[in-house]
Amino acid sequence: MLAKPPQLKMPGKTPIRGVGSWARSRSFWILNYFTGCCFIEAVPWVGSGYDMERFGLLVADTPRHADVLMIGGYVTFKTLKRIIRIYQQMPKPKYIIALGNCPMTGGTYWDSYNTVKCLDDYIPVDIWIAGCPPRPEPIGLAVVEAVNAVQSGYLGKTWRTKRRIEEKTNKY
Ligand code: SF4
Repeated sequence: MLAKPPQLKMPGKTPIRGVGSWARSRSFWILNYFTGCCFIEAVPWVGSGYDMERFGLLVADTPRHADVLMIGGYVTFKTLKRIIRIYQQMPKPKYIIALGNCPMTGGTYWDSYNTVKCLDDYIPVDIWIAGCPPRPEPIGLAVVEAVNAVQSGYLGKTWRTKRRIEEKTNKY
């Protein structure tokens, strides 16, 4: 039996800062980068049960067309290098959503020598979705929060950690 779709409300009273912000908030193109089991809970969003297209979300094929990079699962330093390359290819403004406990803390792999413990130390994560794995409902709530923020003019976090990344990833 299908789970009941979440009753998510699109922002009504959030201030709109310009037509550009409004249009951007209603047309997120998402590039997915899933390395772990979190992928399973994101899939229902694409289908008719949760129907992400009603929020203006589309899956992007290339980084150059994407507004949002969704990273799900554990990230190793070897993988981090590829994620950074993808992030650099995305046009501004760009946003990152991290899915699951693994990108936050290392999750199940917290004591591994080559797993990133906090992804935000290396690239700017705008939204965290907790859980192992998170259910589809919090993914929807995160999307609504993102729509709210972008509609009011949020342009994403600034990236300030380039030197640290080079130090960490040069050996891989
Ligand atoms: S947070 Fe849990 S479900 Fe997601 S990749 Fe890590 S171990 Fe898998």
